[in-house]
Amino acid sequence: QRRSERDDALAECRTADGTRIEIFANLGAVTDAAAAVAAGAEGCGLLRSEFLFLDRDSAPDEDEQHAAYQAIADGLDGRPLIVRTLDVGGDKALAYLPIPREDNPALGLRGVRVSLWRPELLDEQLRAILRVTPAGRCRIMVPMVSGLDELRAVRARLEALAGENGGAAAELGVMVETPAAAILADQIATEADFLSIGTNDLTQYALAMDRTNPAVAAQVDAFHPAVLRLIAAAAEGGRRRGKPVGACGGLASDPLGAVLLVGLGLSELSAAPAAIPAVKARLRSVRIDECRAIAQWALDQDSAASVRRSVEDALAPSE
Ligand code: PEP
Ligand code: MG
Repeated sequence: QRRSERDDALAECRTADGTRIEIFANLGAVTDAAAAVAAGAEGCGLLRSEFLFLDRDSAPDEDEQHAAYQAIADGLDGRPLIVRTLDVGGDKALAYLPIPREDNPALGLRGVRVSLWRPELLDEQLRAILRVTPAGRCRIMVPMVSGLDELRAVRARLEALAGENGGAAAELGVMVETPAAAILADQIATEADFLSIGTNDLTQYALAMDRTNPAVAAQVDAFHPAVLRLIAAAAEGGRRRGKPVGACGGLASDPLGAVLLVGLGLSELSAAPAAIPAVKARLRSVRIDECRAIAQWALDQDSAASVRRSVEDALAPSE
């Protein structure tokens, strides 16, 4: 069955006053694409490309990667696809890419740092993405960036590789998931085509709490006002430079979190496919001015628990 205008109209999400919010899906397997569209996704806002690299003895070559990206693009039937470059290191290890022992893996070689440490892997991945047809279908997003240098290094490779084929380079965005990137968002947005806030890592690094450590797991909460202030800074930085800012971390899969993110100025959210119907239903029930008021109030709370309570109270149906 082909994509129809009617399906697209049904999938559209607007707040109660008509403000358009785009809702994409986070994907981590080829087979997810069609299911995400069925759940109401308007595209993929985060393809976690690690799924191609984990649990095997050697890296997937360019052809294998291309086939997977192409299949996902086809499954999305013309909708946007944001491919995140390889985000390993930290808690995700690869047998064929041994990272020297680190005392603090979450603060060591991970995300874009691995890509720049092993540029041949980055080149292969960028080539595979650039081959997806129709040209320009994929956007590329870089994880764990902490400053412009890393973006410039990836862009240099992307332009060189696109030039080899005489093609155009893809749009290149940055994940805002370190406090440094959130604080420097206005600067990064001068050269990034878009920003996407990774609230999972942003929370871990803002609160200095390891997201994989069960002793602190319950406190690694993106509703924390410190995290919300960093998100507000990132949203403002992108807005000042006229660049789109979205979110793709877990906060965007939480209906109350989605209200906060929209209230802080985001208009593109990427959620787990299963969460999309509830996120849309919640956003359709609120006006944009309510979202903004709730978010402003949240920024002044003193804990994640009080933010959560105040959002719940504000959205509770009145007697
Ligand atoms: C994030 O950190 O919020 C994110 C979306 O990336 P991941 O969860 O894959 O680290
Ligand atoms: Mg992350």
